[in-house]
Amino acid sequence: MREIGSVGFTEKPIPEPGPNDAVVRTTTALICTSDSHTVRGGIGPRTDLTLGHEAVGVVHAVGSEVANLRPGDRVLSGAITPDWGDPASQNGFPSQSGGPLGGFKFANSKDGVFAEYFHVNEADANLAKIPDDVPDDRAVYCADMLSTGFMGAEKGNIPIGGTVAVLAQGPVGLMATVGARLCGAGLVIGVESVPARQKLARTYGADEIIDFTTEDVEARVLELTGGTGVDTTIEALGTDATFRTAIRITRPGGTVSNVGYFGEGDYVHIPRADWGVGMADMTIATGLCPGGRLRMERLLRIVAGRRVDPSRMTTHEFAFDEMERAFEISDKKIDDVIKVLIRF
Ligand code: ZN
Repeated sequence: MREIGSVGFTEKPIPEPGPNDAVVRTTTALICTSDSHTVRGGIGPRTDLTLGHEAVGVVHAVGSEVANLRPGDRVLSGAITPDWGDPASQNGFPSQSGGPLGGFKFANSKDGVFAEYFHVNEADANLAKIPDDVPDDRAVYCADMLSTGFMGAEKGNIPIGGTVAVLAQGPVGLMATVGARLCGAGLVIGVESVPARQKLARTYGADEIIDFTTEDVEARVLELTGGTGVDTTIEALGTDATFRTAIRITRPGGTVSNVGYFGEGDYVHIPRADWGVGMADMTIATGLCPGGRLRMERLLRIVAGRRVDPSRMTTHEFAFDEMERAFEISDKKIDDVIKVLIRF
């Protein structure tokens, strides 16, 4: 990212690891909608910033205090790389370490992963070794898509056999659908209008699909849940309209679990009556993609155990030197794109 609205290649030196850090040689990366938000100015003005936060690679160098990693190890970094000694981490919220959303360092407070080499702070705590039987093109999905999507389900208090609606079936919504199934949901309702995404949602475990362009989402959810609303709604889009829908379709005592990025407007509105005039025993859960070695190891175990094949979301593949075209396809949502994978 040269500046807001402009991207292209640039030359930078290979980063050096501090005592607790590692430098990773990138092998595979994924482009994320967040990269587009960043280029449009979503996190404020940035210049000469390397984009990207979803990558796997091979350890190139480690600092003197790194105990568990050696050059040559195949590794996955979480998209979020917390400071584990920070008070927020000690309070149980490492993604918020170093200030609100401060665990989000790649392509934000430091250079990201769309480069031949990238730097990882606190390498022992933030890098996971990738099992031999998990290929790079699956492991790379754990960095953000699985971690964020599954978080939506984990924070959703889904009762075993419970009912879940997932608003939008983009890559995070699709992984929230998988997460809801893994958490024991008995009925998963995906809301989505794009046919290719509807189809993928079904293969990932959505029992019902509601097309919001032709159906009344609220009426249909009530019909599917015997008039009560769902136990859990996972909001995976991040608009005022979908958030209102989330409140309306969730039963009293239920949970609205947000994984959407609210990029527009100053306020998000809560429909007062559907919120039980503030007394509906409803939980609104929020979170930023969890990172960390243990988290990544768990996600890799899910992939190794073939409980999910995230590589079905890869609609496009490019070599690193085709990055500009790859970014354009992801950014402009050309050609039914879901995820664009980059080979280095
Ligand atoms: Zn991402």
